[in-house]
Amino acid sequence: MNYLLAMQNYDVIVLGAGINGCGIAENLAGLGKRVLLVDKGGVGQGTSSKSSRLIHGGLRYLETGKIHLVHESLRDRQRLVQKYPNLVAYKRFFLPIYKSSPRPAWMIRMGLMMYDVLSGSRSAGKSRTEDVKLFKISFPAFSETDLRSVLSFVDAKTHDRELTRRVADDFQELGGTVIVHCDIDSITWDDKGFEIRSKSGAFSAPILVNATGPWLDEVNQKYTLPARYRIRKVSGIHLIFEGLVVPELMFMQTRQKRIFFIIPEPENNQTLIGTTEREEDCGMDDLQAQESDIQYLLDQVNAYLKPDHQFQRKDVRDIYIGVRPLVRKKGDLSDMSREYKLDHHRKGESQLLHVFGGKLTTYLSLAEKVARVLGVRS
Ligand SMILES: Cc1cc2nc3c(=O)[nH]c(=O)nc-3n(C[C@H](O)[C@H](O)[C@H](O)COP(=O)(O)OP(=O)(O)OC[C@H]3O[C@@H](n4cnc5c(N)ncnc54)[C@H](O)[C@@H]3O)c2cc1C
Repeated sequence: MNYLLAMQNYDVIVLGAGINGCGIAENLAGLGKRVLLVDKGGVGQGTSSKSSRLIHGGLRYLETGKIHLVHESLRDRQRLVQKYPNLVAYKRFFLPIYKSSPRPAWMIRMGLMMYDVLSGSRSAGKSRTEDVKLFKISFPAFSETDLRSVLSFVDAKTHDRELTRRVADDFQELGGTVIVHCDIDSITWDDKGFEIRSKSGAFSAPILVNATGPWLDEVNQKYTLPARYRIRKVSGIHLIFEGLVVPELMFMQTRQKRIFFIIPEPENNQTLIGTTEREEDCGMDDLQAQESDIQYLLDQVNAYLKPDHQFQRKDVRDIYIGVRPLVRKKGDLSDMSREYKLDHHRKGESQLLHVFGGKLTTYLSLAEKVARVLGVRS
C-alpha cells in the first residue's frame, strides 16, 4: 500500500453515507466545518434505500407511549415537506376496519385524534371517517365481507435513496467532500485526532462520526473503536408488484396486531407491500430475504383481498431487504425503541461519536443533536 500521498486534513470525518451520515455531514458543513464523508459503497446504498419510504410520525408508536418520538418525527416531517417539496409529499393513508381487526374502530379513532393533536398546525390534513360505499368502489380488490368502517389520516411519502442523494448533493454544494467506494485499511487515534488510511488516500480530523447504521458493530470491531452500545439487526423485507394494486396508501393490521403498508407508487407503476421483522445474526453482507417472510406478507395481504384478486408468489416482481440499526436492548422485536442514541467518547482533543439507531424521518433532528453533542456552533 502506498501511503506517501499527503495527509488531507478535515475538521470532521463522517463514516457512512446513509441518510444519517449525509444529514450530519450537511449540517456540520452548514455550520462552517470542513467535512469529509466516506462510504465503502455508494451514497444511500444501505438501509437508506431499503425502507418503506415513509416520512411519518409512526402512528403505531403511540400504542407503546413513545410520544416524544412521534412528536419529534412529526416536526421533522413538516420540515422535510417544506425543505424538499419535490421529494417529500403529504399523502392520505386508508385504514379499513373489519370485524376481525385486532383493534376496534374507537381505539384507532382515539389514536388518530392524538396523532392530529401532535401534528398540530403542521398537519396537512386531519384524520377522518371515510364513506364505506365509496371505499368499496375505489378499492375493488378489497373484501367487503365484515367491513365495519374505513378511517384515514395524513402522513408523508418520499423516495429514500433519492432523498439521501439529494442531502449528499446539498452537502457538496456547501463545500463538503464525498468519497464513495472507499476501502478503509486502518483507523488510528490519539489525543490529537484520528488518522484514516485507505486506498483512496489518507485523511485526518479531530472528530470522527461513525454513522455506518447496521454495520456499526462490524466497523467498531474491525477498527477497534470503543462503544457503549451494540446494534440489534432487525431486517424487514418489501415485495414489489407490477401496477397499482390500490389507488391510495394503506395502513393495515394483521390479526396478531402487527401492521403492514400497501404503498402504490404511480411514478414507477408499482406497489410496495411491507414489512417484516426478523432478528439477524449473519454479517451484513450475507443478508437474504427468507421465503417464510415472503409468504407471511402474501398471506397478510391476501387475507384482505377478494378470491379473484389474491396474489401468488409468481406475482412478486422484486423483493428488497433492509436492516433497522436498532439500539441493543432486551425485549420483543416490534416493541423495540426506534429512538436513537449518540455514544460520545473523548480522548484529549479527539472526539468519537457513534450514531445508534435513527429513522429516515428524524435525520434532521439527529444531525442537529450530533452538532450540539460535539459542541459545534456556527
Ligand atoms: C424495512 C425497513 C423499513 C423502514 N421504513 C422506514 C420508513 O418508512 N420511514 C423511516 O423514517 N425509517 C424507516 N426505516 C428506518 C430507516 O430506513 C433507517 O433507520 C435509516 O435509513 C438508517 O440510515 P443510516 O444512515 O443510519 O444507515 P444506512 O443507510 O444503512 O447507511 C450506513 C452506510 O454506512 C456504510 N458503511 C458500512 N460500513 C462502512 C465502512 N467500513 N466504511 C464506510 N462506510 C461504511 C454503508 O455502505 C451505508 O451506506 C426502515 C428500515 C427498514 C429496515
